[in-house]
Amino acid sequence: MEQLDIKSLYEEELKEKMISLGEKPFKGKQLYQWLHQKAAGSYEKMTNLSEGLRKKLTEQEPLTHLEVVEVQTSKIDGTQKYLFQLADGNVIESVWMQYKHGNSVCISSQVGCRMGCRFCASTIGGLTRNLLPSEMLDQVYRIQELTGERVSNVVVMGTGEPLDNYDNLIRFIRILSDEKGQNISQRNLTVSTCGLVPRIRQLAEEDLTITLALSLHAPNDEKRKELMPIAYKYSLSEVLPACKYYFEKTGRRVTFEYSLVKDENDTPEHAYKLAELLKNMHGHVNLIPVNPIKERKYCRSLNDSVEKFKYILEKKDINVTIRRSMGRDIDAACGQLRRKYEEAKDTF
Ligand code: SAH
Repeated sequence: MEQLDIKSLYEEELKEKMISLGEKPFKGKQLYQWLHQKAAGSYEKMTNLSEGLRKKLTEQEPLTHLEVVEVQTSKIDGTQKYLFQLADGNVIESVWMQYKHGNSVCISSQVGCRMGCRFCASTIGGLTRNLLPSEMLDQVYRIQELTGERVSNVVVMGTGEPLDNYDNLIRFIRILSDEKGQNISQRNLTVSTCGLVPRIRQLAEEDLTITLALSLHAPNDEKRKELMPIAYKYSLSEVLPACKYYFEKTGRRVTFEYSLVKDENDTPEHAYKLAELLKNMHGHVNLIPVNPIKERKYCRSLNDSVEKFKYILEKKDINVTIRRSMGRDIDAACGQLRRKYEEAKDTF
Protein backbone atom coordinates (compact mmCIF):
# COMPACT_ATOMS: atom_id res chain seq x y z
CA MET A 1 0.00 0.00 0.00
CA GLU A 2 1.07 3.59 -0.63
CA GLN A 3 2.49 5.62 2.21
CA LEU A 4 -0.39 7.54 3.79
CA ASP A 5 -0.02 11.29 4.25
CA ILE A 6 -1.20 13.13 7.33
CA LYS A 7 -4.57 14.14 5.86
CA SER A 8 -5.37 10.48 5.19
CA LEU A 9 -5.14 9.42 8.85
CA TYR A 10 -8.00 8.76 11.27
CA GLU A 11 -8.17 10.86 14.43
CA GLU A 12 -6.81 8.03 16.59
CA GLU A 13 -3.84 7.62 14.26
CA LEU A 14 -3.15 11.36 14.39
CA LYS A 15 -3.04 11.16 18.18
CA GLU A 16 -0.44 8.39 17.89
CA LYS A 17 1.49 10.49 15.44
CA MET A 18 1.53 13.42 17.85
CA ILE A 19 2.87 11.18 20.60
CA SER A 20 5.65 10.06 18.26
CA LEU A 21 6.50 13.73 17.67
CA GLY A 22 6.75 14.28 21.43
CA GLU A 23 3.41 16.11 21.63
CA LYS A 24 0.30 15.56 23.73
CA PRO A 25 -2.34 13.33 22.07
CA PHE A 26 -5.01 16.07 22.19
CA LYS A 27 -2.94 17.95 19.62
CA GLY A 28 -3.96 15.17 17.23
CA LYS A 29 -7.60 15.97 17.94
CA GLN A 30 -7.01 19.65 17.20
CA LEU A 31 -5.10 18.84 14.04
CA TYR A 32 -7.87 16.51 12.82
CA GLN A 33 -10.39 19.29 13.38
CA TRP A 34 -8.30 21.72 11.35
CA LEU A 35 -7.73 19.27 8.53
CA HIS A 36 -11.24 17.88 8.18
CA GLN A 37 -13.85 20.02 9.94
CA LYS A 38 -12.34 23.35 8.94
CA ALA A 39 -10.64 21.91 5.85
CA ALA A 40 -7.63 24.18 6.39
CA GLY A 41 -5.26 24.20 3.42
CA SER A 42 -2.10 25.08 5.36
CA TYR A 43 -0.53 24.67 8.79
CA GLU A 44 -0.19 28.45 9.24
CA LYS A 45 -3.92 28.69 9.80
CA MET A 46 -3.81 26.26 12.75
CA THR A 47 -3.40 28.93 15.38
CA ASN A 48 -3.99 26.77 18.44
CA LEU A 49 -0.95 24.64 17.55
CA SER A 50 2.40 26.00 18.74
CA GLU A 51 4.66 27.68 16.24
CA GLY A 52 7.26 24.97 16.84
CA LEU A 53 4.81 22.19 16.01
CA ARG A 54 3.54 23.98 12.91
CA LYS A 55 7.12 24.40 11.72
CA LYS A 56 7.88 20.73 12.36
CA LEU A 57 4.74 19.63 10.51
CA THR A 58 5.45 21.95 7.59
CA GLU A 59 8.89 20.40 7.23
CA GLN A 60 8.01 16.76 7.81
CA GLU A 61 4.38 16.30 6.76
CA PRO A 62 3.57 18.12 3.52
CA LEU A 63 -0.15 18.77 3.05
CA THR A 64 -1.83 17.73 -0.16
CA HIS A 65 -3.38 20.67 -1.92
CA LEU A 66 -5.14 20.54 -5.28
CA GLU A 67 -4.22 23.30 -7.70
CA VAL A 68 -6.93 24.45 -10.09
CA VAL A 69 -5.72 24.09 -13.69
CA GLU A 70 -9.01 24.83 -15.40
CA VAL A 71 -12.67 25.38 -14.55
CA GLN A 72 -15.41 24.95 -17.10
CA THR A 73 -18.87 26.30 -16.29
CA SER A 74 -21.99 25.18 -18.11
CA LYS A 75 -24.12 28.00 -19.46
CA ILE A 76 -27.11 25.69 -19.38
CA ASP A 77 -27.25 24.61 -15.75
CA GLY A 78 -24.23 26.06 -13.91
CA THR A 79 -22.48 22.69 -13.61
CA GLN A 80 -18.77 23.19 -13.07
CA LYS A 81 -16.00 20.88 -14.09
CA TYR A 82 -12.67 21.26 -12.30
CA LEU A 83 -9.33 20.07 -13.56
CA PHE A 84 -7.01 19.78 -10.54
CA GLN A 85 -3.29 19.21 -10.47
CA LEU A 86 -1.86 16.92 -7.78
CA ALA A 87 1.50 17.36 -6.04
CA ASP A 88 3.20 14.96 -8.49
CA GLY A 89 1.91 16.80 -11.57
CA ASN A 90 -0.87 14.36 -12.45
CA VAL A 91 -4.25 15.89 -13.17
CA ILE A 92 -7.72 14.70 -12.18
CA GLU A 93 -11.21 16.02 -12.72
CA SER A 94 -14.17 16.59 -10.45
CA VAL A 95 -17.65 17.95 -11.17
CA TRP A 96 -19.89 20.25 -9.13
CA MET A 97 -23.63 20.09 -9.78
CA GLN A 98 -26.51 21.99 -8.23
CA TYR A 99 -29.81 20.23 -7.74
CA LYS A 100 -32.99 21.30 -5.96
CA HIS A 101 -32.15 18.94 -3.10
CA GLY A 102 -28.61 20.27 -2.64
CA ASN A 103 -25.14 20.48 -4.11
CA SER A 104 -23.46 17.39 -5.39
CA VAL A 105 -19.82 16.65 -6.22
CA CYS A 106 -18.63 13.84 -8.48
CA ILE A 107 -15.08 12.82 -7.60
CA SER A 108 -12.34 10.73 -9.17
CA SER A 109 -10.87 7.78 -7.27
CA GLN A 110 -7.81 7.04 -9.44
CA VAL A 111 -5.57 8.78 -11.98
CA GLY A 112 -6.78 6.89 -15.05
CA CYS A 113 -8.41 3.47 -14.86
CA ARG A 114 -7.54 -0.09 -15.85
CA MET A 115 -11.05 -1.48 -16.33
CA GLY A 116 -11.19 -0.74 -20.06
CA CYS A 117 -14.92 -0.06 -20.57
CA ARG A 118 -15.27 0.56 -24.29
CA PHE A 119 -17.33 3.78 -24.18
CA CYS A 120 -15.39 5.47 -21.38
CA ALA A 121 -12.71 8.14 -21.93
CA SER A 122 -11.12 7.67 -18.49
CA THR A 123 -9.65 4.30 -19.29
CA ILE A 124 -7.98 5.02 -22.64
CA GLY A 125 -4.53 5.78 -21.19
CA GLY A 126 -4.78 3.00 -18.57
CA LEU A 127 -4.16 3.40 -14.83
CA THR A 128 -1.45 5.78 -13.63
CA ARG A 129 -1.99 5.46 -9.89
CA ASN A 130 -4.47 5.29 -7.04
CA LEU A 131 -5.61 8.45 -5.32
CA LEU A 132 -4.88 8.83 -1.62
CA PRO A 133 -7.81 9.30 0.75
CA SER A 134 -6.64 12.92 1.19
CA GLU A 135 -6.74 13.50 -2.57
CA MET A 136 -10.32 12.27 -2.71
CA LEU A 137 -11.29 14.38 0.33
CA ASP A 138 -9.57 17.44 -1.11
CA GLN A 139 -11.75 17.35 -4.21
CA VAL A 140 -14.75 17.95 -1.95
CA TYR A 141 -12.95 20.41 0.38
CA ARG A 142 -11.53 22.49 -2.47
CA ILE A 143 -14.81 22.71 -4.34
CA GLN A 144 -16.57 23.85 -1.16
CA GLU A 145 -13.88 26.48 -0.69
CA LEU A 146 -13.99 27.65 -4.31
CA THR A 147 -17.78 27.83 -4.58
CA GLY A 148 -18.35 29.00 -1.00
CA GLU A 149 -21.18 26.47 -0.81
CA ARG A 150 -21.74 23.36 1.24
CA VAL A 151 -21.73 20.02 -0.52
CA SER A 152 -24.43 17.61 0.63
CA ASN A 153 -24.04 14.73 -1.84
CA VAL A 154 -20.94 13.00 -3.10
CA VAL A 155 -20.80 10.46 -5.90
CA VAL A 156 -17.66 8.46 -6.62
CA MET A 157 -18.36 8.29 -10.34
CA GLY A 158 -15.50 10.23 -11.84
CA THR A 159 -12.34 8.72 -13.29
CA GLY A 160 -11.27 5.40 -11.79
CA GLU A 161 -12.72 2.23 -10.35
CA PRO A 162 -13.26 2.98 -6.65
CA LEU A 163 -13.30 -0.68 -5.60
CA ASP A 164 -9.91 -1.11 -7.29
CA ASN A 165 -8.63 1.40 -4.70
CA TYR A 166 -10.53 -0.21 -1.86
CA ASP A 167 -8.64 0.65 1.34
CA ASN A 168 -8.23 4.30 0.40
CA LEU A 169 -11.90 4.50 -0.56
CA ILE A 170 -13.00 3.18 2.84
CA ARG A 171 -10.83 5.74 4.63
CA PHE A 172 -12.23 8.48 2.42
CA ILE A 173 -15.81 7.47 3.25
CA ARG A 174 -15.22 7.22 7.00
CA ILE A 175 -13.42 10.55 7.25
CA LEU A 176 -15.87 12.41 4.98
CA SER A 177 -18.86 11.20 6.98
CA ASP A 178 -17.19 11.61 10.39
CA GLU A 179 -19.16 13.97 12.61
CA LYS A 180 -15.84 15.45 13.66
CA GLY A 181 -15.07 16.18 10.01
CA GLN A 182 -17.41 17.41 7.28
CA ASN A 183 -20.16 15.15 8.61
CA ILE A 184 -21.60 14.40 5.16
CA SER A 185 -24.22 11.70 5.62
CA GLN A 186 -23.25 8.28 4.28
CA ARG A 187 -26.76 8.06 2.89
CA ASN A 188 -25.82 10.90 0.56
CA LEU A 189 -22.75 9.11 -0.70
CA THR A 190 -22.79 6.83 -3.75
CA VAL A 191 -20.00 4.55 -4.92
CA SER A 192 -20.21 3.30 -8.47
CA THR A 193 -18.48 0.11 -9.58
CA CYS A 194 -18.12 -1.83 -12.81
CA GLY A 195 -18.67 -4.96 -10.67
CA LEU A 196 -15.67 -6.28 -8.72
CA VAL A 197 -17.55 -9.10 -7.03
CA PRO A 198 -15.30 -9.90 -4.02
CA ARG A 199 -15.05 -6.18 -3.23
CA ILE A 200 -18.82 -5.68 -3.38
CA ARG A 201 -19.19 -8.47 -0.84
CA GLN A 202 -16.46 -6.95 1.32
CA LEU A 203 -18.13 -3.53 1.13
CA ALA A 204 -21.37 -5.07 2.37
CA GLU A 205 -19.53 -6.07 5.56
CA GLU A 206 -18.15 -2.61 6.37
CA ASP A 207 -21.19 -1.44 8.29
CA LEU A 208 -21.70 1.59 6.06
CA THR A 209 -24.96 3.08 4.79
CA ILE A 210 -23.73 4.33 1.44
CA THR A 211 -25.50 3.62 -1.85
CA LEU A 212 -23.91 1.14 -4.20
CA ALA A 213 -24.31 1.75 -7.91
CA LEU A 214 -23.53 -1.07 -10.30
CA SER A 215 -22.61 -0.27 -13.89
CA LEU A 216 -24.64 -2.91 -15.67
CA HIS A 217 -25.05 -1.59 -19.23
CA ALA A 218 -26.24 -4.91 -20.69
CA PRO A 219 -28.84 -7.56 -19.85
CA ASN A 220 -26.63 -10.55 -20.68
CA ASP A 221 -22.97 -11.56 -20.39
CA GLU A 222 -22.40 -11.64 -24.12
CA LYS A 223 -23.32 -7.99 -24.70
CA ARG A 224 -21.71 -6.96 -21.42
CA LYS A 225 -18.41 -8.49 -22.52
CA GLU A 226 -18.49 -6.37 -25.67
CA LEU A 227 -18.86 -3.19 -23.64
CA MET A 228 -17.00 -4.01 -20.42
CA PRO A 229 -13.95 -6.33 -20.27
CA ILE A 230 -14.57 -6.94 -16.55
CA ALA A 231 -17.52 -9.11 -17.64
CA TYR A 232 -15.00 -11.76 -18.74
CA LYS A 233 -13.87 -12.04 -15.15
CA TYR A 234 -17.22 -11.86 -13.34
CA SER A 235 -20.42 -13.09 -14.94
CA LEU A 236 -23.83 -11.68 -14.15
CA SER A 237 -24.57 -14.86 -12.22
CA GLU A 238 -21.90 -13.67 -9.76
CA VAL A 239 -22.40 -9.90 -9.95
CA LEU A 240 -26.14 -9.83 -9.28
CA PRO A 241 -26.06 -12.12 -6.22
CA ALA A 242 -23.28 -9.89 -4.82
CA CYS A 243 -25.58 -6.87 -5.28
CA LYS A 244 -28.42 -8.72 -3.64
CA TYR A 245 -26.14 -9.55 -0.74
CA TYR A 246 -25.25 -5.85 -0.46
CA PHE A 247 -28.95 -4.98 -0.23
CA GLU A 248 -29.67 -7.69 2.33
CA LYS A 249 -26.73 -6.73 4.54
CA THR A 250 -27.17 -2.95 4.40
CA GLY A 251 -30.86 -2.43 3.59
CA ARG A 252 -29.72 0.01 0.91
CA ARG A 253 -31.25 -0.34 -2.54
CA VAL A 254 -28.69 -0.83 -5.27
CA THR A 255 -28.77 1.49 -8.27
CA PHE A 256 -28.20 -0.17 -11.64
CA GLU A 257 -26.64 2.17 -14.15
CA TYR A 258 -27.43 1.49 -17.75
CA SER A 259 -25.78 3.69 -20.39
CA LEU A 260 -27.85 3.49 -23.54
CA VAL A 261 -25.81 3.05 -26.69
CA LYS A 262 -27.65 3.34 -29.98
CA ASP A 263 -28.40 -0.09 -31.52
CA GLU A 264 -26.03 -1.80 -29.07
CA ASN A 265 -28.06 -2.26 -25.89
CA ASP A 266 -31.16 -0.06 -26.31
CA THR A 267 -33.73 -2.20 -28.15
CA PRO A 268 -37.07 -3.33 -26.65
CA GLU A 269 -35.64 -6.88 -26.46
CA HIS A 270 -32.83 -5.60 -24.28
CA ALA A 271 -35.37 -3.82 -22.07
CA TYR A 272 -37.46 -6.97 -21.61
CA LYS A 273 -34.37 -9.03 -20.80
CA LEU A 274 -33.23 -6.41 -18.31
CA ALA A 275 -36.62 -6.39 -16.57
CA GLU A 276 -36.43 -10.16 -16.27
CA LEU A 277 -32.89 -10.02 -14.90
CA LEU A 278 -33.71 -7.45 -12.23
CA LYS A 279 -37.09 -8.87 -11.21
CA ASN A 280 -36.23 -9.68 -7.61
CA MET A 281 -33.36 -7.30 -7.04
CA HIS A 282 -35.25 -4.48 -5.21
CA GLY A 283 -33.09 -2.08 -7.14
CA HIS A 284 -33.44 1.06 -9.13
CA VAL A 285 -32.41 1.54 -12.76
CA ASN A 286 -30.75 4.74 -13.87
CA LEU A 287 -30.78 5.15 -17.64
CA ILE A 288 -28.01 7.33 -19.06
CA PRO A 289 -27.94 8.07 -22.79
CA VAL A 290 -24.25 7.48 -23.54
CA ASN A 291 -22.00 10.52 -23.91
CA PRO A 292 -20.18 9.88 -27.17
CA ILE A 293 -16.38 10.16 -27.00
CA LYS A 294 -14.33 10.90 -30.05
CA GLU A 295 -12.10 7.82 -29.69
CA ARG A 296 -15.03 5.40 -30.14
CA LYS A 297 -17.84 4.88 -32.58
CA TYR A 298 -20.64 4.56 -30.00
CA CYS A 299 -23.62 6.91 -30.41
CA ARG A 300 -26.25 8.21 -28.02
CA SER A 301 -29.62 6.44 -28.19
CA LEU A 302 -32.45 8.36 -29.79
CA ASN A 303 -34.90 9.97 -27.37
CA ASP A 304 -37.67 7.69 -28.60
CA SER A 305 -35.64 4.57 -27.81
CA VAL A 306 -34.81 5.91 -24.35
CA GLU A 307 -38.48 6.63 -23.59
CA LYS A 308 -39.55 3.24 -24.89
CA PHE A 309 -36.88 1.48 -22.87
CA LYS A 310 -38.09 3.25 -19.74
CA TYR A 311 -41.72 2.49 -20.51
CA ILE A 312 -41.03 -1.24 -20.83
CA LEU A 313 -39.19 -1.36 -17.51
CA GLU A 314 -41.99 0.54 -15.78
CA LYS A 315 -44.60 -1.83 -17.18
CA LYS A 316 -42.61 -4.66 -15.66
CA ASP A 317 -42.61 -2.87 -12.28
CA ILE A 318 -38.96 -1.92 -12.33
CA ASN A 319 -38.14 1.34 -10.62
CA VAL A 320 -36.49 3.50 -13.29
CA THR A 321 -35.34 7.06 -13.94
CA ILE A 322 -33.57 8.73 -16.84
CA ARG A 323 -30.54 10.60 -15.59
CA ARG A 324 -30.78 14.28 -16.32
CA SER A 325 -27.71 15.10 -18.29
CA MET A 326 -25.83 17.95 -16.60
CA GLY A 327 -23.33 20.22 -18.28
CA ARG A 328 -23.94 18.96 -21.81
CA ASP A 329 -22.12 21.99 -23.22
CA ILE A 330 -18.89 21.25 -21.31
CA ASP A 331 -16.78 18.10 -21.63
CA ALA A 332 -19.22 16.14 -19.52
CA ALA A 333 -18.31 12.49 -20.08
CA CYS A 334 -15.95 10.92 -17.57
CA GLY A 335 -12.36 11.76 -18.26
CA GLN A 336 -12.85 13.92 -21.35
CA LEU A 337 -11.43 17.11 -19.86
CA ARG A 338 -8.41 15.31 -18.47
CA ARG A 339 -7.78 13.58 -21.81
CA LYS A 340 -7.98 16.85 -23.66
CA TYR A 341 -5.38 18.30 -21.29
CA GLU A 342 -3.04 15.29 -21.57
CA GLU A 343 -3.28 15.35 -25.37
CA ALA A 344 -2.50 19.05 -25.55
CA LYS A 345 0.53 18.50 -23.30
CA ASP A 346 1.77 15.67 -25.54
CA THR A 347 1.78 17.87 -28.63
CA PHE A 348 4.35 20.27 -27.13
N1 SAH B 1 -15.54 2.71 -12.48
C1 SAH B 1 -16.81 3.01 -11.91
C2 SAH B 1 -17.08 4.49 -11.69
C3 SAH B 1 -16.68 5.45 -12.75
S1 SAH B 1 -17.66 5.58 -14.19
C4 SAH B 1 -17.92 2.34 -12.69
O1 SAH B 1 -17.63 1.71 -13.69
O2 SAH B 1 -19.06 2.41 -12.28
C5 SAH B 1 -19.24 6.17 -13.70
C6 SAH B 1 -20.35 5.75 -14.63
O3 SAH B 1 -20.29 6.44 -15.89
C7 SAH B 1 -20.33 4.27 -14.96
O4 SAH B 1 -21.63 3.75 -14.95
C8 SAH B 1 -19.76 4.27 -16.36
O5 SAH B 1 -20.05 3.09 -17.03
C9 SAH B 1 -20.42 5.50 -16.94
N2 SAH B 1 -19.78 6.06 -18.14
C10 SAH B 1 -18.48 6.12 -18.46
N3 SAH B 1 -18.29 6.70 -19.65
C11 SAH B 1 -19.52 7.04 -20.09
C12 SAH B 1 -19.99 7.67 -21.27
N4 SAH B 1 -19.16 8.07 -22.23
N5 SAH B 1 -21.32 7.86 -21.38
C13 SAH B 1 -22.17 7.45 -20.41
N6 SAH B 1 -21.79 6.85 -19.28
C14 SAH B 1 -20.47 6.64 -19.12
